[in-house]
Amino acid sequence: MKKNHSYCGIIEKYREYLPVTKKTPVITLNEGNTPLIYAPALSKLVGKGAEVYLKYEGLNPTGSFKDRGMTMAISKACEEGAKAVMCASTGNTSASAAAYAAKAKLKCIVLIPSGAIALGKLSQALIHGAKVLAIDGNFDKALELAREITRRYSITLVNSLNPFRIEGQKTASFEICDYLGTAPDFQVMPVGNAGNITAYWKGYKEYKSIGRISALPKMLGFQAEGAAPIVKGHPIKDPHTIATAIKIGNPASWTQAEAARDESNGLIDMVSDKQILDAYKLLAQIEGVFVEPASAASVAGLLKLSKKGYFKAKAKITCILTGHGLKDPDRAIASINKPKIIKPDLKTILKEIGY
Ligand SMILES: *Cc1c(COP(=O)(O)O)cnc(C)c1O
Repeated sequence: MKKNHSYCGIIEKYREYLPVTKKTPVITLNEGNTPLIYAPALSKLVGKGAEVYLKYEGLNPTGSFKDRGMTMAISKACEEGAKAVMCASTGNTSASAAAYAAKAKLKCIVLIPSGAIALGKLSQALIHGAKVLAIDGNFDKALELAREITRRYSITLVNSLNPFRIEGQKTASFEICDYLGTAPDFQVMPVGNAGNITAYWKGYKEYKSIGRISALPKMLGFQAEGAAPIVKGHPIKDPHTIATAIKIGNPASWTQAEAARDESNGLIDMVSDKQILDAYKLLAQIEGVFVEPASAASVAGLLKLSKKGYFKAKAKITCILTGHGLKDPDRAIASINKPKIIKPDLKTILKEIGY
């Protein structure tokens, strides 16, 4: 492989922890290595000397953490001689699959719930040349169909049911530990299909088992109130939330998410759309970090728990910010007052800005 940069993506960086061999063709867009940003204003809001860090996964090549899993899934699909890959998606999986499949010269087929994915994500799947089919049904139905089709035909499923997705995504917990020098005390994250919480927990446990960290974090997952099957203990037939990336009624990795919760002594709780949108705006305005609504569920959860006095003093907390705000610009514009239209003269502008 031609290497122009010292950083070449998560497979090269964490090769020894991943199921790859010299024969695996590495399909990468240099994903991973995302910043862990200290959040002073949020830390202050949480209080009690808390240190809050933001793992800004929106800075991956296609704008979400899905790239970590996709570099593995697509590389392994190539190794196994696949010609086509398929996924069901609330948006980001399709954006990522389409990009990595384009690089690997694989055919990519995407099933999306019609009318329910953010504009930025749809634009990505389309521009990378995937065959995008919008079904008249929700994500859970799309996934059921994708599973059925990939069982019957030689098309590789690249949803997080694909174990290589989880392997790639676990590298985010390695990065957090490498950066902090320890594991955080708490990790807060959104939960949709529950692959990511499964992956992080696997990563933390692996780092502990080889002595890279001495303690494990408590895993704190948050679902949206209208799409909270794990919290409610049963599948939700018609999930609803503005956070489309976690609008999932029957998570594929349900039991693994519960295991992460229980083994870590953590919790899986829910936040309302209002709490999500408030956190979404707050994060952009006090920390300068723009995320998509689903990602803000982590910060909404952080604030919900801190109000209850959940965190011990001086807690080290990471919030996983799963996707970039530009994925869903419609939501940002709908959440904030539109710019005022004014006359093009100096006086008017100065008056408006109070000078
Ligand atoms: C996929 C996704 C999630 C949910 O992750 P799961 O692994 O499905 O739980 C959350 N936020 C964003 C932005 C996503 O793309």
